[in-house]
Order: sequence, then structure tokens, then C-alpha cells
Amino acid sequence: MQIKVDDHKPVEETLRDREWELSQLVDLVPGHLWRLTPDGEPTFFNKRMVGFLGLDVADADRPGVSRLQAVIEAVIHPDDAAEFGETLRCSLVTGKDFSIRYRLRRSDGVYRWMSSRAEPMRDQAGHIVQWYGLCHDIDDQVHAEEALRRSERQLQQLIDAVPALIWCMTPEGIPCYLNKRVSDITGIALEDLIAPDGARSLTVIHPDDRDAIDRALARSIETGEPFVGRYRQCRSDGPHRWVESRAEPLRDEAGNILQWYGVSVDIHDLMTVQQTLRERERELSLLVDMVPSNLWRLTPEGETTLANRHMADFLGMDLEDKQQLSEVFDTIFHPDDVETVWDGLARCLRTGERFSMKYRLRRADGVYRWMSGRAAPLRDESGRIVQWFGLCHDIDDQVHAEEALRRTSDRLAQATRAASLAELSASIAHEVNQPLAAIVANSHACHRWLSADPPNIDRAKITAERITRDANSAADVVGRIRALFRQTPHARLPEDANRLISEVCRFMADETAARRVRIKTNLELGLPSAALDRVQVQQVLVNLIRNGVDAMDTVVGGARELEIQSARHGSDAIRIEVRDEGTGFEDVERVFEPFFTTKQHGMGMGLAICRSIVESHGGRLWTANNETRGATVAFTLPLEASEAP
Ligand code: ADP
Repeated sequence: MQIKVDDHKPVEETLRDREWELSQLVDLVPGHLWRLTPDGEPTFFNKRMVGFLGLDVADADRPGVSRLQAVIEAVIHPDDAAEFGETLRCSLVTGKDFSIRYRLRRSDGVYRWMSSRAEPMRDQAGHIVQWYGLCHDIDDQVHAEEALRRSERQLQQLIDAVPALIWCMTPEGIPCYLNKRVSDITGIALEDLIAPDGARSLTVIHPDDRDAIDRALARSIETGEPFVGRYRQCRSDGPHRWVESRAEPLRDEAGNILQWYGVSVDIHDLMTVQQTLRERERELSLLVDMVPSNLWRLTPEGETTLANRHMADFLGMDLEDKQQLSEVFDTIFHPDDVETVWDGLARCLRTGERFSMKYRLRRADGVYRWMSGRAAPLRDESGRIVQWFGLCHDIDDQVHAEEALRRTSDRLAQATRAASLAELSASIAHEVNQPLAAIVANSHACHRWLSADPPNIDRAKITAERITRDANSAADVVGRIRALFRQTPHARLPEDANRLISEVCRFMADETAARRVRIKTNLELGLPSAALDRVQVQQVLVNLIRNGVDAMDTVVGGARELEIQSARHGSDAIRIEVRDEGTGFEDVERVFEPFFTTKQHGMGMGLAICRSIVESHGGRLWTANNETRGATVAFTLPLEASEAP
């Protein structure tokens, strides 16, 4: 600084003014100014410093302690004192600039961070004459820096702790950061993602996925649109794993991309499960299409949501294309069945009952075929119906075979009845005629011998004996006629009686349904087989079922249910019971009498024949009226020899 001399003022006064100005400057400068001797003894603190510390250089003087040491002890934070002393001593020895950050004690005892610098002033010979120092308060800055460092550390910890692979890339798409987890988990380092020429390298991606990911990345970098990609990522410690990566750009205020931030999440398990599910779904839909039956699915409102290939081929149309099943109802069902099927299905959809019906369905070539259709609802946890699943299979051949069988059986039964009746009548007429004629002739003779005068008692006795003989021979004839009913034994084979019952029920199903009777079976599981003539036992069952159905014909209202039960009977037989809810027997005693009937067109031979068939098998047949309503006819059949214990 050059001191300008005012011509009008005495030099001394001017100098005093300047000195005052200078000392004002030194004291007002917003910082602490201090001066040391070349040995480091403080010789000056400016006013601000004295005000801050609450002490001046001389105040620190203590006997036996250097002033520097006394000042250090008094105002430098104990944790910084050693470093401060050492750095200063080093500068004093070497003459190099002094610079340090430390905490300085304010007069109120509060330590504040300071940044201090000092430089030596040398004389012309280069010897240090003074040290001048400046120190200013950086406490707020230090705390701000600390807070920043803390939040940076937290952010870093967060980035490393987040269970995802985090990465960044430059606006040009060159990876520039990977979080710790990337290397911990995948073993991939930043260098692995950069080719020797500095371009992006995707060698850590499965070769089959590499091109697609490269294209997607290039597109995002070009357009700035977010990047999303799924690919298999190499792992240093094992096979590839599926990951999903997403990245979005960070832009400056002008909209220029500054950096891309990306995250990759391991979706391997998800992909594996999805793949398994897809395979399962493929298998299931293959199964649904290959199953040799018609399968379909409806919404609770009756909208078709699935019809398998078999059904589409059969109908020659894809039901899934139709919004509502009702649209095609008239086309696909036989005109005679449309109404009943529609009513039945609508009732099931309304009530949630299972659907089961036989109907004719129109094949693609226009031919109607009999089908057996069934459907059941699928319910959610709250019991609400969410879907209907249905199955219908072709029973056309079976229906025609059963019809043919029934027709033959009916014809046979008629022929048998007619034949046996004619044969029986002729036999009775022939066999009984002779003894009756002899009885009539002998009666006349007896009458004559007794009417003679005198009556010839001896001759009358002889004639009466003849009458007795002929009457006995007539009884023999009747006995022989009864014997006619006893069937000649046929070959008996071990049979499952339950199967036989089921067959007969199927066979009778249409007839009973037409007469609005429901057959209920209650068959004992694992029933041992019985040796029997299946045709004869079928005949017995058909007869008993028809009788039961006849007996329920007049019942008005109430259930028309016919129950067939099978069970073991003792240790060596099975028992079959046919139980109806009809009128019951009017005369239980007489029902086995030949020709006893209460029906207009009955023959009165059924039960008698049934009993003789059962007895010829070594079993027993009996009848009884039920306690409440209806009648029960039961019969036993002995077990096959090897089945009996
Ligand atoms: P039909 O059936 O030709 O009359 P059956 O010998 O089979 O000959 O029956 C004789 C009679 O026994 C019937 O007319 C009927 O009165 C009576 N009957 C048979 N089964 C039953 C039954 N389940 N319920 C009531 N009565 C029956």
C-alpha cells in the first residue's frame, strides 16, 4: 500500500490518518487476522478475533509455558490441538504456507470450525520476519458438508441394500455405475459391460436374448423412451437366471438426457412357474381337445366359453363363436328334445342342481345321435357358481342296442306267455279230463247201484272207491301241472348280483321314467358273487319291478319311488329286496296262487313263476306289506360255493 501525502496536511498527521484507516481495515475485515513471530509466538490478534476468543495475545501468557502453547491449550479443540501444533511447527521449520481446519473455542465455550491459512513475510535476505495468518468461520459449511456426506452415505447404503440390481448408463448407453449387489450376486463388474473399444458390451446376456435387448436399448437411447427388457443373465456361479430390467432417463431443465437409471429384478422363479403353467395349460387344452367326448363350459348366465375340438367337429361349428347357447339351441338339438333339454338346463342354471339328461344332438352331416349329457357347477369359496362344466358323450349305438334288446325281450315275453298259457291249458284239459270223466261215469254208476231195489251196496262201494281213485289221480295231475312251473336247471355261473340289478335298472329306465317312477338303488359294496342263471334272475327282477310300478300307478301325489336293495343274508346267501310305495298287497296269502290277479289284463302267474325260479336256485322268495305304505318282495340266492365261508 502506498501512502499518499496530502500537501496541505503535515506528513505526521497524514500518516496517523492512514494508520487509523489501516487498523480499522484490519479490525473490520470479516475474518480473524493474526501475526506470529518467526518462532511462532502470537504477537497480534485483530479485534474480531479478540472478540471471538474473549482473549487477547497477552491474556494467554502463563509462566513457564510458551505463549503459542498457552493459546493452543486455551482455544483449540483438544481433539485438534495436536494436529494444529504439529502443522504449525512444521510450517515454522520449513517456511511453507500453513493451512488447516480445526475447531476454535468461542468466548461462550462453543467450538466452531475454522479454516486457517498463514504465510511468512520475509526480509530482503529471505529471512522470515513475521507470519501473517487469516482464519475464517466455516462451521456452517462443515456441518452442511457433514450432513451431505451423511445423506450420501445413507443413499449409498440404501442403493446397496435394496434387493435389486441398480445400474446407470451415460446418455450414449455406456454403463457407468453398478451397485454393490450386482457384483455380490451376479459376479458382474462394470468392466464386463464395456467392450475394449469403449462401447456397450452385452456378453453377460444369454446369446439368444442379446440381439433383442441390444435393439431395445438402442431404441430407448435414441428416442428417450423408458427401457424394459426380460432376458437371461449370466451368473459367475451357475446357470443363467431370468431378470427383468427397466431404465428411465434423468433430464436437465432443457430436456437433455443426463443419465439413465436402471434396475434389474430377478424374475427367474416367476418365469419358471409361468413356463410350467404354460406347459400345463398346453397339456390340459390338448387333453380337452383329444378326449373322445364333447366337453363344454358355460358362464352362470349360459354363455359358452369353451367347447372342445371334438364337439366342434361333431357339430360342425364352433360354439365358442356363439355368444349364447340359446342362439343355437334349436339348431343342434332334435326338435322333440329341444324343449325338455332347454327347460332342464334352464332349471339347473337357475337352481344350481346338476344336469343329467339323454337327448339327440345333430351331427355336422345332419344325422341326430343320442347323447348322454351331464353338467355340474363349479363354485367359489362363498358358494357362488362361477362356471358350469359339461360333458356329453355319444350313446347312440348303446340306445339302439337297448331298444332292440327290449323289443326282442318284449316279443319273447309275449310269446312265452302265450305259449305257456296255451300249453298249460291243453295239458290241464287233457290230463284232468280223463279222471273227471271217469269220476262222472262212476258217480252215475254209484247212483244207479244205490237207487236199485234193493240197493246193491257192495257194487256202490266198489264204484265209490273208483271215484276216490280217480279224484286222487286228478290231484296227481294238478301236482304234475305245478311241477311244470319248476324250471329245469340251466347252467349257473358266478354273477355279480349288483351288476345284474344295474343292468336291469338301465334296461327298465325308459319304461319307469315314462310312468314317472324313480328307481333308487341301495347296493351293498363288495357283495360276493352268486351262482345263477342271469336270464332267469333278470326275469324275476323285471317282473318284480313291473309289479311295483303297476302298484304305484294309482298313487296320486307323493313320491313314486321304487327302491332296490342288495345285501348279504347270513353267511351263505345274498338278499335282494324290491320295495315300492304303491297300494300294497290286497291279499298277501293268495298272491302265489296260479292265475290269482287283481289286474284287468293280468295273468296271475308272475309271482308264482318268480318263486319257482328262486326256489330252483336254492333260494327263497317272500312278500310283505310295508309298515307305512306299499309292498316289499324279497328273495335270497345262495352264494357261489367258493364264496361261502
Ligand atoms: P299279475 O301281475 O299278472 O297279476 P302276479 O303273480 O305277478 O301276476 O301278481 C299277482 C297279484 O299280486 C297282482 O295281481 C297283485 O294283486 C298282487 N301284487 C303283486 N305285486 C304287487 C305289489 N308290488 N303291490 C301290490 N300288489 C301286488
